[in-house]
Amino acid sequence: MKAPAFDYAKPASLAAAFDLLERHGDEAKLLAGGQTLMATLNMRLSQPGILVDITGLSGDKSLSGIRLEDGKLVIGALTKHREIERSPLVAEHVPLLAQAVPHVAHIAIRNSGTFGGSIAFADPAAEYPVCAVALDATLVLVSRKGERKVPARQFFKALYETDLKPGELVARAEFPIQAPGYRSVFLELARRHGDYAITGVAAHAKVVGGVLSDVRLAYLGMGGIPMLARRAMAELEGKPYSADTVSAAQGALAGELDPTADLYSTAATKLHLARVLTGRALAALAGGTA
Ligand SMILES: Cc1cc2nc3c(=O)[nH]c(=O)nc-3n(C[C@H](O)[C@H](O)[C@H](O)COP(=O)(O)OP(=O)(O)OC[C@H]3O[C@@H](n4cnc5c(N)ncnc54)[C@H](O)[C@@H]3O)c2cc1C
Repeated sequence: MKAPAFDYAKPASLAAAFDLLERHGDEAKLLAGGQTLMATLNMRLSQPGILVDITGLSGDKSLSGIRLEDGKLVIGALTKHREIERSPLVAEHVPLLAQAVPHVAHIAIRNSGTFGGSIAFADPAAEYPVCAVALDATLVLVSRKGERKVPARQFFKALYETDLKPGELVARAEFPIQAPGYRSVFLELARRHGDYAITGVAAHAKVVGGVLSDVRLAYLGMGGIPMLARRAMAELEGKPYSADTVSAAQGALAGELDPTADLYSTAATKLHLARVLTGRALAALAGGTA
């Protein structure tokens, strides 16, 4: 199938982009890397009247680049996956994200797809949303009215549904930089490398003398949004890493993850795989290998 006919505009400024969004309302769709949007157009899952191509705004600092600012690592929406993968700043200050990005699709897609496109699309099996939730990142959204900040944990509302309002764009994200004593582990299972994950875990904790604290466990592919497993986190909080604590955390997952069966895996299989990954992630956190 081919995409239905649409108009195309490439604004040279944010103000011009807001004008287009205002003029065309629901008929307008933002185009960033196109790696998700073009597929949905070709499958006729979406039939916008006009595509507003925001790649011409990459000179706007509020939407682009990777930098340290006020003790946070800031990633602009127009940053390509491959730039994140190759960034020494990301590797040093947000190692969870650095571990996650090679799992995002394939290199050809990572060369074009953008950070903001992935956050805005909000696929529950995508890697960035789950990292943002695990690390309690803040998303900065921009509209003609100005900017507003939304914690990632409040941004993802339901399957493919976010807190974005009409006329608003994802501008950038602010990630807390990893403090001394903290470790991060990202693990996922996919049928083939580069496919969307069956399940995965973003794990982050302070580890001192084998004792885990400030534990975060967030899961992809285990519900309509990135799932923060608060009960499992509580089972580990302030306790030394041991078979018993791991088992208690794995047991708690059943009550808070909500996987749905797909063509390849039942919900029970997904839950089992999430528990296995949790065991591996906690061992890696405690062992300090990641
Ligand atoms: C074969 C294949 C495999 C893939 N596997 C994975 C995977 O394993 N993990 C993964 O995370 N992703 C995967 N992807 C998706 C890929 O990461 C996309 O690049 C990403 O989801 C969307 O980014 P984009 O820049 O291409 O956005 P686009 O396709 O241009 O846009 C996607 C949606 O976001 C909106 N949008 C874009 N930018 C903004 C913004 N700044 N503010 C508000 N709305 C915006 C668009 O209007 C559109 O609705 C895969 C894609 C393909 C084709």
